[in-house]
Amino acid sequence: MNILLISTYELGRQPFGLASPAAWLAETGAAVRCLDLSVEPLDAGAVRQADLIGFYLPMHMGTRMALPIIQQARQLNPAAHLCCFGLYAPVNEPFLRRLGVQTILGGEFESGLVSLAQRISESAARPAANGSQPEPVISLARQEFRVPNRAGLPPLQNYAHLAVEDGRKLTVGYTEASRGCKHLCRHCPIVPVYGGRFRVVPRATVLADIRQQVAAGAKHITFGDPDFFNGPGHAIPLVEALPAEFPGLTYDVTIKVEHLARHANLLPTLKATGCLFITTAVESFEPEILAIFDKQHSPAEFELAVRRCRELELHLSPTFVAFTPWTTLAGYRCFLQEIVRLELVDQISPIQAAIRLLIPPGSKLLELPETQAAIGPLDEAKLSYTWRNPDRRLDALQADLEVLVQRCAGQKVPRRETFRRIWARAFAGVGDAAGQTPFPNLPPASRFVPYLTEPWYC
Ligand code: SF4
Repeated sequence: MNILLISTYELGRQPFGLASPAAWLAETGAAVRCLDLSVEPLDAGAVRQADLIGFYLPMHMGTRMALPIIQQARQLNPAAHLCCFGLYAPVNEPFLRRLGVQTILGGEFESGLVSLAQRISESAARPAANGSQPEPVISLARQEFRVPNRAGLPPLQNYAHLAVEDGRKLTVGYTEASRGCKHLCRHCPIVPVYGGRFRVVPRATVLADIRQQVAAGAKHITFGDPDFFNGPGHAIPLVEALPAEFPGLTYDVTIKVEHLARHANLLPTLKATGCLFITTAVESFEPEILAIFDKQHSPAEFELAVRRCRELELHLSPTFVAFTPWTTLAGYRCFLQEIVRLELVDQISPIQAAIRLLIPPGSKLLELPETQAAIGPLDEAKLSYTWRNPDRRLDALQADLEVLVQRCAGQKVPRRETFRRIWARAFAGVGDAAGQTPFPNLPPASRFVPYLTEPWYC
């Protein structure tokens, strides 16, 4: 049997979501082909030959990019069984099924893919008349993880790199030591699928995956765990094992502000084991918006985390949802001023200042009257409920900034200059004379901030 696994976009990373199921499916005896359309073209011949085509949908952008490819695959090969797997598959189930997708697998999807492949090889893959499938649409079963099979993927060198101080661009690998999250932030796409649970990948499996990526040239590893400190008892021994086997290897992790505060005593261990930077989802400096998101941290806790990481010379890479239905013009300007006050201009990817809240189907935000009052109908093709800010200047500003940031990224405009232009638009470019606050003098950059050469986050 021929299985084709397709990824469209995974933030400039070699897709873990193809490598992991490829290892499981190869054990069934199937011929597995992986296609990453972010770095290679669609192979129509491979589509025509496939008995099963699986689309990996881990994120909003990748899912939107997959929609026309699903339709194309349906036309090229009407007989193939189409499956969508990953975080964004179950929440968009009705829409995907209308596109002709027969099987939807969310959460821990590898065992479901194996079950589906076995059904197809036994010629029993037609869904029941009511459209149901035997595999659970969301599975949180504890799986016996396999070491991802990366042999069929484009080389790591084809993906985003790590820019470091001496001007070099280092090859980056990616792995996951855990999946899901034990928290219930209302705006988070993980919550409708994992519902406050997470699953750990055994240390030996994670180390084996790092080993094969180091052998393939990786000098830096991104841990894609939604929150690396969901299970510090798992995370810390793992990173403590890195320096002995992989001297000089650096890594980055994502940790929520609340955990940076609670587990501050573990930060020196991260630093000592090669952690170069920590991504943290701050989302907002406004307590009201943090409460709507149920983020469980305060702006003061974030400020403390900034100071602790600075003391340790651990870079923080904060992320934000800058535009929400509840954002005011004054609030947005305060957001920019806070970034300046906390001396974070060099540490923030400019796109963070233009991110607009997505409210996908299943979002816990939909449970709030504040959200119900703000949203319009679901735009299925955009995978999000529509909303407008009551102050239309904010919607226009967000659209303007998105274009500005894209243009600056294309022209390789430095972060400081991009931020200055964002400031100019927000303070002087919205027809509000009262808001014309001049751009402040920034202190000289004290040190180089390493960054991944993929500027998007979505
Ligand atoms: S801590 Fe992060 S990953 Fe976990 S639910 Fe909140 S936003 Fe999502």
